[in-house]
Amino acid sequence: MQDLGADGIAAVLRLSDRFVEVAQRAIPKVPALRGRTVATLFSETSTRTRLSFETAARRLSADVVSFSPTGSSIAKGESLRDTVETVAAMGVDCFVVRHACAGVPAQVAGWTGASVVNAGDGWHEHPTQALLDCATIRQVLAERDGRRAEDTGTEAFAGLRVTIVGDVAHSRVARSDVHALAALGASVTLVAPGSLLPPSLAGWPVAAATSDLDAVLPDTDVCYLLRLQTERGAGAFVPSLREYTAGFGLTARRADRLPEHAVILHPGPMVRGVEIAAEVADLPRTAVLRQVANGVAVRMAVLFLLLGAEEVPADA
Ligand code: ASP
Repeated sequence: MQDLGADGIAAVLRLSDRFVEVAQRAIPKVPALRGRTVATLFSETSTRTRLSFETAARRLSADVVSFSPTGSSIAKGESLRDTVETVAAMGVDCFVVRHACAGVPAQVAGWTGASVVNAGDGWHEHPTQALLDCATIRQVLAERDGRRAEDTGTEAFAGLRVTIVGDVAHSRVARSDVHALAALGASVTLVAPGSLLPPSLAGWPVAAATSDLDAVLPDTDVCYLLRLQTERGAGAFVPSLREYTAGFGLTARRADRLPEHAVILHPGPMVRGVEIAAEVADLPRTAVLRQVANGVAVRMAVLFLLLGAEEVPADA
């Protein structure tokens, strides 16, 4: 997200509008990437991101192959580089890469002439998550004004008050979202215990960082909750889950402090009862499933921009 910029984000969102429309068709499929092959290489657990990319590729009529270190020759001792080069030699046009280490997708891009999409690298970035979050926010803002997202740009992001709550330190989602939202002119506040904020906010284009969630909620337009990244050791940074929830969980009482128009987002997977109360997860203003649906359209846009023709074909 750091180098995409406001115009790049707007271009992806504009194209994804076309694919939101495709998803509503009886047969939600277009031939745009027929003959192209997309390989998903996920070395960390994933449900929505992997299925979302694979669904996006199939809806564009691309062929999809997928592999993971445990089920591939990496488990036999082959290096990631040799594996990538082997798969690339089979004629893959795009690798979608998730890895526990920051920078691996960039490394893969240096080993192959194929396109590479970062599907989440360690604590670093999760760019398509940020794009689908922007698409969802834009949709909600447009609807609030009685308009369709495709008839709007990104001007409504200017001054939008976004509060990102939780395990910011270990969150690639927070990093990508902060860069995307700041590029579009939103004002982002981080809320976390001091132990879960990055040691320095240099390079984080945010308006403020605080540990007082209750104080920030009434001035929030978008409340974005993060999961505690226990697989990255986050559990050691809070006294207990119960105490974390007491200070930073979006309980029903806290959700009532939000302005009536405020929307609640979460990248998933949600841990009900920890960062979000079960009843808050099910509120109409919680747009989690809408984020998931937009994820497919946004990833179709990303794959199309990388692999497609110059122009969106008339039948797309
Ligand atoms: N699904 C997101 C990610 O892969 C968020 C999370 O796992 O908490 O980063």
